[in-house]
Amino acid sequence: MEECIFCKIANHQQKTDIVFENEQIIVFKDMHPQAKVHLLIVPKKHIESINYLEEEDRELINQMIFLAKSLAKKQGIAVKGYRLFFNVGRGGGQIIDHLHLHLMGGGGLSDG
Ligand code: 5GP
Ligand code: ZN
Repeated sequence: MEECIFCKIANHQQKTDIVFENEQIIVFKDMHPQAKVHLLIVPKKHIESINYLEEEDRELINQMIFLAKSLAKKQGIAVKGYRLFFNVGRGGGQIIDHLHLHLMGGGGLSDG
């Protein structure tokens, strides 16, 4: 997946603002933030979208959600609230074809 920008970021071939990393997952700031806090929680494994998830990815998705919970707390947006979402396919607003979970909050959301 040499042409995939999120694979490049995961492999440290492309610089970005990384806020968390372990063996399976990397989290970095969105380059065009839509809110004060806008992080992308990205599995290092190249999965195109939720549509391409397999049984073996259950634990990975599990980890991503719990990581979002802890990052929301660390970023100080857990109490007020935040938005957590996957865009799936062009009709769902997905531009980058490498699975990513958006974590957004801290002001700038359309409804507060
Ligand atoms: P999507 O619309 O696919 O769900 O979201 C892709 C997100 O990735 C967009 O919010 C976009 O701003 C962000 N993005 C695209 N390319 C890069 C990049 O090279 N670096 C970073 N940090 N964010 C990116
Ligand atoms: Zn990729």
